[in-house]
Amino acid sequence: MIHISKKIKRCPKCGSTDIVSEAGMMTGYKYHCRKCDYVGALILEEYLEKETDK
Ligand SMILES: [Zn+2]
Repeated sequence: MIHISKKIKRCPKCGSTDIVSEAGMMTGYKYHCRKCDYVGALILEEYLEKETDK
């Protein structure tokens, strides 16, 4: 059985996972949602856990 844990980023505004991270000048990393154009440091992170036994 293989246990796979995958980390995904989710937009707090529209819930899309189409997120790109951008390096900010002084603020560190910020995130940009390509779906709704949300830009900010706050992002939802989720772990997708997938179990395969075949
Ligand atoms: Zn969004």
